[in-house]
Amino acid sequence: MKTTKKTPPKKTTTASVAPKSDAASDLMDFFEDSLKDLYWAEKALVKSLPKMAKNASNEDLKAAIEEHIEVTRLHVERLDQVFASIDKKAVAKKCDAMAGLIEEANGILEETEPGVVRDAGIISASQKIEHYEIATYGTLRAFAEVLGLSEAEALLAETLQEEKDADVSLTELAVSAINLEAVDA
Ligand code: FE
Ligand code: ZN
Ligand code: FE
Repeated sequence: MKTTKKTPPKKTTTASVAPKSDAASDLMDFFEDSLKDLYWAEKALVKSLPKMAKNASNEDLKAAIEEHIEVTRLHVERLDQVFASIDKKAVAKKCDAMAGLIEEANGILEETEPGVVRDAGIISASQKIEHYEIATYGTLRAFAEVLGLSEAEALLAETLQEEKDADVSLTELAVSAINLEAVDA
């Protein structure tokens, strides 16, 4: 006689995640960890944005990305200042999200013919990156505020505004010309 094995009901993983030994125990710790992640992300962008600029055909888009490379270098320096303001060493810790967004951007280049369609792709990839940065700087600025770190807060707010400006410029380039040209490509 066959015994029918009862399959146990699938467990949804609601179990609490075991923290690493060096896990943050207070908001200040978590703030510092998040800064390290963001520091890695900005440095990775300084290295990867030139490829995006090089692959852009539209001169305004190329110029906008080249300008943002310089702005991104400034963001790295500003993070150096944030670390200094809390008397911590500037350390970069791999940001999985930015690594993924950069990989996504490289994939978009491969999947598009050079010209307006690739340009639309570059804007799409760049805006995903800007939005991630906006979310991160927004959170860290709010953390700095509640932690009473006014110097860090001001520095983070400054970069947050520049990321927002970059995002608006990209939208303008997309809707004013590049998307329309890409439709007819
Ligand atoms: Fe940035
Ligand atoms: Zn990250
Ligand atoms: Fe940016």
